[in-house]
Amino acid sequence: MNTSIKASVKLLKEKDISPSVQRIRVLEYLQNSKNHPTIDNIYNDLVKEIPTLSKTTVYNILKLFSEKSIARTVRIGNHEARYDGDTSIHGHFKCDKCGNIYDFNVNIEELKLTGLDKFKINEYHIYLKGVCKNCNTEVVE
Ligand SMILES: [Zn+2]
Ligand SMILES: [Zn+2]
Repeated sequence: MNTSIKASVKLLKEKDISPSVQRIRVLEYLQNSKNHPTIDNIYNDLVKEIPTLSKTTVYNILKLFSEKSIARTVRIGNHEARYDGDTSIHGHFKCDKCGNIYDFNVNIEELKLTGLDKFKINEYHIYLKGVCKNCNTEVVE
């Protein structure tokens, strides 16, 4: 067993999830991909090595991971859900042109939120939409 599989098994067990091969592979896929894959992305890549995999299984695994805070669901506008293996607090920027979702850092301490006295915040979702620097062809000097 290589170290990455060991770490995945450990993480799943810590979250009371029995570490099946499919769950381990989905977890590794999420943690190794930085581009916020969709269910289709994950299924299409993993079915090559796990022919018994179905999209429903991928969906159920992702749902479980989200409930157990191993993964986050990223939903911007009406677009299909994408998944993120990085559960730390960070913002997402969706490019309207290429459709890529980029991570950016957010300093929660410095974020000014007003009108939420006595509210308890469980999750932060910070979404921005616009045009990424690769698609932004306006010359900005
Ligand atoms: Zn773009
Ligand atoms: Zn992200």
